[in-house]
Amino acid sequence: MDTLPALHTGTPRSERGFITPVEGLEIPFGLVEGAAPGPILLVTAGVHGSEYCSIEAALRLMGQAPDGLAGTILVLPILNPSGFRQRSIYVMPEDGRNLNRMFPGRPDGTLSERLADWLVTKIYPQADAYLDLHGGDLSEALAPFSLFPSGSEASQALAIAFGLPVSVAAGGEGYTINAAGRLGVPSLIAEVGGNGLWDEAGVTAMTAGIDRALHHLGMIPGPVPAAPQERPRMVTMWVPAAGADGLWYPATEIGQTVAAGDVLGEIRDVFGAVRETIRSQQDGFILYRLSSLAVNRGEALLGVGTPLQN
Ligand SMILES: [Zn+2]
Repeated sequence: MDTLPALHTGTPRSERGFITPVEGLEIPFGLVEGAAPGPILLVTAGVHGSEYCSIEAALRLMGQAPDGLAGTILVLPILNPSGFRQRSIYVMPEDGRNLNRMFPGRPDGTLSERLADWLVTKIYPQADAYLDLHGGDLSEALAPFSLFPSGSEASQALAIAFGLPVSVAAGGEGYTINAAGRLGVPSLIAEVGGNGLWDEAGVTAMTAGIDRALHHLGMIPGPVPAAPQERPRMVTMWVPAAGADGLWYPATEIGQTVAAGDVLGEIRDVFGAVRETIRSQQDGFILYRLSSLAVNRGEALLGVGTPLQN
């Protein structure tokens, strides 16, 4: 199948199957249309194939009953199936690229560029809201947070409704939510879990956020699970990249408060000589960090969240 079924037919239904968005790539989909009219919510996961709480939450969402649902939920739970099967970190194995840096993509590019282009031209324009589910990758540890495209009030409201404890007003280019946000689609990335682990608590944290988003959009009646706090801490995020290959010795824990100038970690060679000392450029706290001993030049080492006035 090259094209998805119609998202709105007026008949409540649940469909699932596989679609080939670009040649050489087959991905699963789930579609649930409710009995009442309403928005179209797009939910993607598995952009990074080893972020399991997000993938499991998306798979469970495909089982949502059409009864009591207003509008349509379209779920693409594993966008990077080769990465899922091969337990890859960051990239689509076919082209070695990080799909979440490839947006808006190119129709004549590599596989990840073509997949990004398909999402931007065929799927995002149909959505009224978008949740892209992630977590720490196989080599990353984190405490739950969300990101939304900075400056989009509707996206920020969606992030507040989703209810993870921290929310990042994110800039930058190449990401799913920036591309969708540019099309006017309220969007967020949700980050739960990491290090290749998944458990019921992590999956439930994600599914509870999805339920709160569905309620916020008027797609399901309440009550929904309460968020762990009234409002997320709103932050900006600074992410230093490794300046050298080597071994990564972090000096801070997830959640730890740091000040500008504090040492966040060191990259050393195999004999212990320091190749790079990473100092914070910001006051804030640690949102996530690389947890592997091995580090390669250019990789994200950690994220420092700096609270916004709100
Ligand atoms: Zn990810």
